[in-house]
Amino acid sequence: MPSRKFADGEVVMGRWPGSVLYYEVQVTSYDDVAHLYTVKYKDGTELALKESDIRSQSSFKHRKSQSSSSSPSRRSSRSRSRSPGRPAKGKRRSASQSREYKDDKKKAIQETTLALPVLVLFKPSENNTKRYNGEPETTEKNDTSCIILEQKLKPDLEIKRVLEQYSLRPRKEEKKKEEFYSEKKTFLAIKPVEKIPAKTKDLEFGGRIGTFMLMLVLPATVLYLLLMCKQDDPSLLNFPPLPALESLWEWRVFGIFLLWFFLQAVFYLLPIGKVVEGLPLSNGRRLEYRINGFYAFILTAAAIGALLYFQFELHYLYDHFMQFAVSAAAFSLALSIYLYVRSLKAPDEELAPGGNSGYFIYDFFTGHELNPRIGSFDLKYFCELRPGLIGWVVINLAMLLAEMKIHNLSVPSLSMILVNSFQFLYVVDALWNEEAVLTTMDITHDGFGFMLAFGDLVWVPFVYSLQAFYLVGHPTTITWPVAAAITVLNCIGYYIFRSANSQKNNFRRNPTDPKLANLKFIPTATGKGLLVTGWWGFVRHPNYLGDIIMALAWSLPCGFNHILPYFYVIYFICLLVHREARDEHHCKQKYGLAWERYCQRVPYRIFPYIY
Ligand code: NDP
Repeated sequence: MPSRKFADGEVVMGRWPGSVLYYEVQVTSYDDVAHLYTVKYKDGTELALKESDIRSQSSFKHRKSQSSSSSPSRRSSRSRSRSPGRPAKGKRRSASQSREYKDDKKKAIQETTLALPVLVLFKPSENNTKRYNGEPETTEKNDTSCIILEQKLKPDLEIKRVLEQYSLRPRKEEKKKEEFYSEKKTFLAIKPVEKIPAKTKDLEFGGRIGTFMLMLVLPATVLYLLLMCKQDDPSLLNFPPLPALESLWEWRVFGIFLLWFFLQAVFYLLPIGKVVEGLPLSNGRRLEYRINGFYAFILTAAAIGALLYFQFELHYLYDHFMQFAVSAAAFSLALSIYLYVRSLKAPDEELAPGGNSGYFIYDFFTGHELNPRIGSFDLKYFCELRPGLIGWVVINLAMLLAEMKIHNLSVPSLSMILVNSFQFLYVVDALWNEEAVLTTMDITHDGFGFMLAFGDLVWVPFVYSLQAFYLVGHPTTITWPVAAAITVLNCIGYYIFRSANSQKNNFRRNPTDPKLANLKFIPTATGKGLLVTGWWGFVRHPNYLGDIIMALAWSLPCGFNHILPYFYVIYFICLLVHREARDEHHCKQKYGLAWERYCQRVPYRIFPYIY
């Protein structure tokens, strides 16, 4: 077995992924299985590098001394690789040497300027970008003094010319620039920006014990909530009697669930809708995704309409709600087992950064493989938005019809209309903006395991529809002014949620979009910027704030008799606070000092002046 070459704590030169640039880094750990070194750059960024991408510092010093003994022409071309202005150790310059040195320095500066565009493409220098985006002078600069160009970079005057204008300010959409931007995008596309998945060391969700407990607690919570909702008095202390086990399962219900799941799969496979690329993976590759969730929704609406037209009793769903939830849970468990088994054969580079601990329970829960696919069928992406999310709207509709039937109403109650409309808007919005899901943590970081399978197929449709389910058994009357106030609240939440998400997604997809010209950002070592004005300068997760405001608006139509319909908003605040902490942790690892500066500029996480 080959032994490791570099020790923990050793300071070496690490290649920036996808480039020819070497930076001074410190080895922090080594993964024996993946044969990857985790190294820390000076700005705090941590990456996993192969041994072939690491050199000892002495090998670079050796090069420098070689260059000084070569011919003058060679010397001048190599001088660029030194820190300008640093004399050889222990030597004093004579006057002529000093003149020669100044000439060398001048040349070095000129050459560095020519090389700058390439540097900008690989790693935007902060002081350069800052000049254009209006960051204050006090903004921290990247330490570029340790950059060593290993080979002469051919100055591309066309690229340089355009890059000199690299800015987020509005400008004419000239054809040449468009060509450049598409060229730049391709360049960035092949540049691996994410960490190559090494072993997951920081275990989340309470580690092995925590994830094991969650696998028991989550299904139990669904069961508890649904049983509570069925009770006349759903007070917390009025614990519901446990149902007989055989009453929880019905093959017919399971068959309908399977039919639903596979119908959505067929809709997903239809060759309608555009195909887009996701964010670059750790190996630089981008996966393709078909964007047709909204079409799937329309086709589903047509199918449900046809069922209703032919007198199908949709409130069958209400009558067998618990059995549907149990069927979905059984299916998600079977799916998780399949996902884990197949992940054992997945190549290392396809494993999820957060689900590769080597502990069965942990990896099973968080998801071992990042993007499990059967051919081009992406299982995680499909489950994220289709069967569960569209299923949620269908369940809400079934509850509305059940309310009308049970209470002999000619029109649904105002509360039910509000809950249905708000959540309908939320789902339609998610499907309409389906592409945005490709930049979320679920797709880019989390593997597909029990957590997402259960979350997408059970938790979302059966817990998020709790308010509508509650209203069927517990009619609540609200006045028009109250309904109007709740609607305004929902609109405010939606506006914050949508505009914050769009702002970030547009910025991630095309930072040079003229529509974003008024926004400022902090450049980071990975090449991505962090917005510091607009919504992302208001709080660090404005989209979560909007989402929580909406969650409150969904619960308010249920009145104040019981806390049960408020379960969603309480749980959601806990979820998003925890998710925010996870995201901060990942961003700190990804962006190092730049993230700390962002946190200083934008001190509140979700709630301004509170948290
Ligand atoms: P976000 O959409 O909030 O994305 C977080 C990522 O955004 C970070 O990892 C970082 O990724 C990037 N980012 C952070 N700060 C900045 C900045 N200042 N400028 C630019 N980019 C930045 O993540 P989620 O996946 O958690 O949420 C997506 C949406 O889904 C949210 O609206 C959320 O409310 C909603 N949601 C809903 C749930 C539900 O059950 N209803 C559950 C979870 C989420 P990078 O830099 O790598 O691009």
